[in-house]
Amino acid sequence: MSSITPLVRPNIAALAPYSTARDEYDGPIGVFLDANESPYGSGYNRYPDPHQAALKARIGGLKGIPTENLFLGNGSDEAIDLVFRIFCVPGQDNAVIIAPSYGMYGVAAATNDVAVHPVRLEADFSLDTEKLLGACNAQTKLVFLCSPNNPSGNAFPRAQLLEICDRFRGVVVVDEAYADFSGQGSLVPEALVRENLVVLQTLSKAHAMAGLRIGMAIASTEIIRLMSRVKYPYNLSRAAMEQALLLLDHRIDEEVVTLVRERERLAAALPAFPFIRQVFPSDANFLLVRVDDADALYAWLLDQGIIVRNRSHVPGCESCLRMTVGLPAENDALLNALENYPI
Ligand SMILES: *Cc1c(COP(=O)(O)O)cnc(C)c1O
Repeated sequence: MSSITPLVRPNIAALAPYSTARDEYDGPIGVFLDANESPYGSGYNRYPDPHQAALKARIGGLKGIPTENLFLGNGSDEAIDLVFRIFCVPGQDNAVIIAPSYGMYGVAAATNDVAVHPVRLEADFSLDTEKLLGACNAQTKLVFLCSPNNPSGNAFPRAQLLEICDRFRGVVVVDEAYADFSGQGSLVPEALVRENLVVLQTLSKAHAMAGLRIGMAIASTEIIRLMSRVKYPYNLSRAAMEQALLLLDHRIDEEVVTLVRERERLAAALPAFPFIRQVFPSDANFLLVRVDDADALYAWLLDQGIIVRNRSHVPGCESCLRMTVGLPAENDALLNALENYPI
């Protein structure tokens, strides 16, 4: 029994997982009459591997993660929903999140009838550890941290994240969707040796596979076992897994270097515009930019065929637009549209 065992919802701890058709036997079989599939080969007539062995081995090998510490989900959004379902009793337990941050934490909490206590980041989007821990009570099962944070772009210091893991007696989820773009490094090695840390990563951003919907959770074997038990048996499709295996042969290192260089080029160029008040430092593949009139600038860019994310109505992001870093030519188009902005 680990320190997180008592945090698990009793109904989940007692759950007998759905046993899939092919779980009971893995010897050589040529005739499959067990799962009511069509026998006509379409390429997809057979159910996919519910244990995702091939893709887990590939991703685990790439990232240095033992497969028993790796969960694969239908996007990291599935992993976010699962941790609520595993640890939070609806109508009773709560989660502490930072604000502003990724909207899915609040949506997953609400669909599970779990209260969230948001802790506002400081004006520069840094995090006050005492304020965060002070928002936790006896019913707080989860703390969600996003680093680099969406939409602010900053990564929190590694020592601060680890201090929160040390001092909070529940489960800390660190969402590293943008870690590939950050100089801060990843907490994955820590998630392999700590009982209460779940790190989320995704193939949706730097790996250029948002359309396939594949996210990862890295955690203790106990937490990974729970997630695997609660997930839908066939949560990743055969098509998505096959395509991901092909696309993972493509190295992303150069693309990441280009995007980081382009991010810094934009960060250097944007402050020259008189209507741009502040460009926040970013460890991600986007920039949060404070402008004079966010709604007007957003409408102008739309008019020029360029869509950015208007975050100006999010508390803490007043007058801010979030701009994703694109291809060099796309970033030129953005700068060009800004040049032509009729103030
Ligand atoms: C984009 C993003 C994700 C990725 O979600 P997927 O479901 O894996 O596509 C996760 N967390 C944050 C903070 C994000 O911005």
